[in-house]
Amino acid sequence: MIYRNAYIENQKQLSDITTEGGRIVRIAPSDQTATKNANETVDLGGKLVLPPFVDSHLHLDTTHTVDPAESRGTLWSGIAFWSSYRDTVTKKSVKENAKKAVLSAVLRGVQHIRTHVDICPARLTAMEALLELKDELKKIVGLQIVAFPQEGILSYPGNKERIETALKMGADAIGGVPHYEYTREYAAESMKYAVDLAVKTGKLIDVHCDETDDDSSRGLESLAAFALEAGIGDRVTASHTTAAGSYSDAYMNRLMRVLVKSKINFVANPLVNLHLQGRFDTFPKRRGLTRVRELTEAGLNVSFGQDDVKDPWYPMGNGDMINVVHTGLHACHMTAYDDILSSYKFVTVNGAKTLNLRGYGVAEGNPADFIVLNCADFYEAVSERAEVLYSIRNGEIIASATPCRRTLKAAGLF
Ligand SMILES: [Zn+2]
Repeated sequence: MIYRNAYIENQKQLSDITTEGGRIVRIAPSDQTATKNANETVDLGGKLVLPPFVDSHLHLDTTHTVDPAESRGTLWSGIAFWSSYRDTVTKKSVKENAKKAVLSAVLRGVQHIRTHVDICPARLTAMEALLELKDELKKIVGLQIVAFPQEGILSYPGNKERIETALKMGADAIGGVPHYEYTREYAAESMKYAVDLAVKTGKLIDVHCDETDDDSSRGLESLAAFALEAGIGDRVTASHTTAAGSYSDAYMNRLMRVLVKSKINFVANPLVNLHLQGRFDTFPKRRGLTRVRELTEAGLNVSFGQDDVKDPWYPMGNGDMINVVHTGLHACHMTAYDDILSSYKFVTVNGAKTLNLRGYGVAEGNPADFIVLNCADFYEAVSERAEVLYSIRNGEIIASATPCRRTLKAAGLF
């Protein structure tokens, strides 16, 4: 199949993408591709082609568990609901709810999701459910699963054992939550435990790290230092790191030294942290996000996640990564034209790097996985909220959309 006349990743020149046997076999300027049989050709007519969207942070065990009409919309109301609810879930209910959220994201061009699954309950029902769903949906989406100790590794009895069990069951990554541990000593020790376990098992790490406005929260420095010493920074992710939005510049300057050396990845969740953080503030109110621009400019990898979809912590969300980027750019003061144009990276290539994906990207030899948007470049995609017209995976169209048409009817004016 030849997909003709595409603007690949904001390029100014039109290209044709030839796929065969589920792979991209040729990418060439449009005027240099021989015309083929019409039924082997799709004319994209100057639309933007990107590698598929990657949602690098999503909670699929909590999604659709609460009626949005019951939402109080705070971190504390979310935790209170979840701690009483989570022991009542069944494998069937987790799978049904998670599938709803995954399919909503797939319809919007997402093909890779890293999901965090709470391992605090005595029975790992949600973990079993998500592992099964991962296998069932692998043709349309890659799920990567983090064993997430919602109430701490050391501060909640049995969580070390449950993390290790989850890894044996098939979980891909080790979670952590240093700012929720009882003491700062526990916080540092929990990060050492996670890094040692990753070295021993070869698994990835993704920590809910310093998701607080407390400017004395110091999980990140421990995680980065241990990852640096173990030489596994590229397999380690610090999610949220919202405390960095409250650190003094002097401390951040010191911290940046170990962050840059460690080469760990970062995930910001603009929609959720913009509304969850800053709740102790009267005025001025903090934005509650990590330092996205500063980390990016220091050469560190930052991606964006949806985090929550209609769950106890967030009553909205549908897996639309353009919406996540749109809010992130506002919250992070990244509204220069070039910032907007290149912001697709937060939900594509940077996310792929966070997830340690191989063979990702619109390039010859890679799997024929890409999306086609109803616009010519990503500036237009963000400002006009362009639809994902096609999501193509292994050369097959797995989702498509009909663009909305608006018509002016004011008689006599035009
Ligand atoms: Zn999270």
